[in-house]
Amino acid sequence: MITPKNKNNTVENVRNATKDISDIFRKHFYKIKSKYRYPYHVLRAVESICQCRTNSLGTQIYKCDSCGEEHEIAMSCGNRHCPKCQHEKRKDWLDKQIDRMLPIDYFHVVFTLPDSLNDLILHNQKILYGVLLKCVKETLIELGRDRMRADIGAIAILHTWGQNLSYHPHVHCVVTGGGINVDSKKWISSKKGYLLPVEVMSTLFKGKFLSYTKELQQKSTKRQGKDIP
Ligand SMILES: [Zn+2]
Ligand SMILES: [Zn+2]
Repeated sequence: MITPKNKNNTVENVRNATKDISDIFRKHFYKIKSKYRYPYHVLRAVESICQCRTNSLGTQIYKCDSCGEEHEIAMSCGNRHCPKCQHEKRKDWLDKQIDRMLPIDYFHVVFTLPDSLNDLILHNQKILYGVLLKCVKETLIELGRDRMRADIGAIAILHTWGQNLSYHPHVHCVVTGGGINVDSKKWISSKKGYLLPVEVMSTLFKGKFLSYTKELQQKSTKRQGKDIP
């Protein structure tokens, strides 16, 4: 319910709110749109973000139960790339993960690939994002078993852009500081402040990615397909 004094969500106030990505798109995107060839899903996402919570998508009128004052709320776009629409979902997801946390140490591990692979990945996103996540999973499982004799746990999140908004596919992992011992099936903790050897992890991960990618390339060449250029 909207309280009579809360007018923050009215169309006018939302429009006058602090500048965000939709303002940047509205101001600049349409000037550069014709200069480049954007994929359809990108154009659609930009359009949705520009229209989100404006009159373009229509409005709904809500009436306060107490005072009868009416409030006009602009409709949201619901696009999965829209920061306004995803804010609540992101918060819910985060709360859920926090609820699931165990009373143990966790480690933040980031897996990145060299920029020289960006073009290859950009043109084969679906298949190579899958390979990237598979390599992350195998690396953590194999090293966990090899160095700790334990099955460790992790949450992996794919990011496709870096902080400067350039294309930079990488995977963030929250990894348990320990795991279930493969013999005793009991929990064992990793050493204080130390999970796994970083260089070994990096070498294993990169080796796996190159190996799987080459394998796909060979299969593609045999099929004379165009999955991997
Ligand atoms: Zn939206
Ligand atoms: Zn990131």
